[in-house]
Amino acid sequence: MSEGLSTRCVHAGEIADAHGSPHTPIYNTTTFKFPTTADLLDVVDGRKPGSLYTRYGLNPTIQALEAKLANLEGAEMAWAFCSGMAAEAALFLAHGRDGIVCLGDAYGGTLELLGEQIRSFDVRTHLLRGNELELAESRIADGCGLVFLETPTNPTLEVLDIRRIAEMCHRHAALLAIDNTFASPVNQSPLELGADFVVHSATKYLGGHSDLTAGVLAGRKDLLMPVWAWRKNLGSMIAPETAALLSRSLRTLVVRVERQNRTALAVAEAMARHPRVLRVFYPGLPDFPGHEVAKKQMRDFGGILSIEVAGGGEAATRVADRLKLFALAPSLGGAESLVTQPCTTTHHGLSADERARRGISDALLRLSIGLEDAEDLIRDLDQALA
Ligand SMILES: *Cc1c(COP(=O)(O)O)cnc(C)c1O
Repeated sequence: MSEGLSTRCVHAGEIADAHGSPHTPIYNTTTFKFPTTADLLDVVDGRKPGSLYTRYGLNPTIQALEAKLANLEGAEMAWAFCSGMAAEAALFLAHGRDGIVCLGDAYGGTLELLGEQIRSFDVRTHLLRGNELELAESRIADGCGLVFLETPTNPTLEVLDIRRIAEMCHRHAALLAIDNTFASPVNQSPLELGADFVVHSATKYLGGHSDLTAGVLAGRKDLLMPVWAWRKNLGSMIAPETAALLSRSLRTLVVRVERQNRTALAVAEAMARHPRVLRVFYPGLPDFPGHEVAKKQMRDFGGILSIEVAGGGEAATRVADRLKLFALAPSLGGAESLVTQPCTTTHHGLSADERARRGISDALLRLSIGLEDAEDLIRDLDQALA
């Protein structure tokens, strides 16, 4: 892997076509024909690579995307899915049979999937806080086979030490999966730090334009092969058109995320100085609790930050409603900046006590920094906070 990440974003995985297209065309077909039964059986039985049926992922547009995704995460293999949740579900079903530990705050859908649907199959799922490493270790020492975590987390940007947790998992033969959605491969490479799987909601930074829904699971071939059958039979395949759109987006991933990193830091610094902001949650600020670990394991600190505004939940709602450039919407990672108040959206389903336990104040606002000019975003926040 001698070429730089920007070069690989543009070139990795692309296949040549007969007409000289500079990128992989969209094979918008569900099936592929064969000259003879013997040729068909070669592909069906895996003796030869080839295209066969799109739901199986045996479609050139999807395979080109997966080769690019694997390359960007430094993985042997990657599977693309129709959503981030579909990728997580296939991972949990394929590798979670002996129990799953989820460490730290995770995406609401992840917590619901683990705490309710997966648990209903008699799989032991343990939803632990990010600092409950001893408890996590005792669960995996008891045979729990999979640990899942996000870092930085949503919405308090807690940073968990991937290398340390990977060593803990491997002492007990457990596997570690990292949801790398917030960091993206530009800022963090979990597999290099010892993780076994990387999961993405490609709906966010990888797609980057708030116009597609997709997911990714990347890792070693021997660990990914068992997931293939789950994806095939759950039917959670990415569509060829979405795969092409995602490949298009990945070509600009580095330029987008580097700009979002830079703007997020500028906004975080401005908010840290603002008299009506009590606290700023951003791993790039030197006095943030996760800063030292983030500096060790991240190349840069990402495009998401949270602020706690003075005046409580109602004041935060007023700020969210007054923002003009920041749209009031869930999701993140797009070209347009977004704001959410976790207590009214992503964490609305939790009790006030549970939110407090997780450090999620009602006055917290999460900002997803887009591609606008930093000065314009800061001016928008200034007028909304005034
Ligand atoms: C959005 C998100 C998901 C779920 O992804 P979908 O593409 O919406 O299914 C999972 N993890 C994180 C961190 C997310 O932000």
